[in-house]
Amino acid sequence: MMITLALSKGRIFDETLPLLQAAGIKMLEDPEKSRKLILPTNQPQVRVVLVRASDVPTYVQYGGADLGVVGRDTLIEHCAEWGETSLYQPLDLKIAQCRMSVAAPADFDYAGKVRQGARLRVATKYVNIARDFFAAKGVHVDLIKLYGSMELAPLTGMADAIVDLVSSGNTLKANKLVEVEHIMPISSRLVVNQAALKLKQQRIRSLIEVFAAAVG
Ligand code: ATP
Ligand code: MG
Repeated sequence: MMITLALSKGRIFDETLPLLQAAGIKMLEDPEKSRKLILPTNQPQVRVVLVRASDVPTYVQYGGADLGVVGRDTLIEHCAEWGETSLYQPLDLKIAQCRMSVAAPADFDYAGKVRQGARLRVATKYVNIARDFFAAKGVHVDLIKLYGSMELAPLTGMADAIVDLVSSGNTLKANKLVEVEHIMPISSRLVVNQAALKLKQQRIRSLIEVFAAAVG
């Protein structure tokens, strides 16, 4: 019985490797060197599929993969569309840690505008997280949906602020933006296909247990 795990290249792939190790699973190829989208492991019954970060929940929901590792940011956006029960979310893996924040140009008086009840233009890839956050604060916003390089939006005058992931803050600094609000901490989670959980129960439950122990 094959177990398929969906991962995105980069941070999530790299930080998932030690967890796989703990389960005795080793990758046989480096995804940065291989052009393959399906990677074998040392266990003939376990394979990894490489997909875009935002496609991981979709692959798992529709059964293209049994399990996946996905950032809380991407997961919240997916669930806003498909519902909380579209995926089983058994475990916070505490990897790929960063935070979701509001950032604005250093010379933009964000706090003042909010106090005045001004309407803000906010660019983001995370429209559901942003909508909920500003609604809870009672701040009026026009959201502009982007798919990348959010930092550019205020620099071009297209938006007053952005909602984006921040880790070191170096990208913000390089673009003369400052973090003005902390929305939520972000880390990656294990997600599981609901049907696979029933059909491959033993194998999946034992993987979850090993991962949970490795996370600590
Ligand atoms: P795509 O390439 O599909 O558009 P993406 O560029 O957002 O997706 P990545 O930048 O690889 O994908 O990020 C994948 C996940 O890694 C994010 O969803 C987030 O949970 C986490 N992440 C992103 N940036 C950071 C960061 N600076 N520090 C730690 N984790 C991060
Ligand atoms: Mg990317």
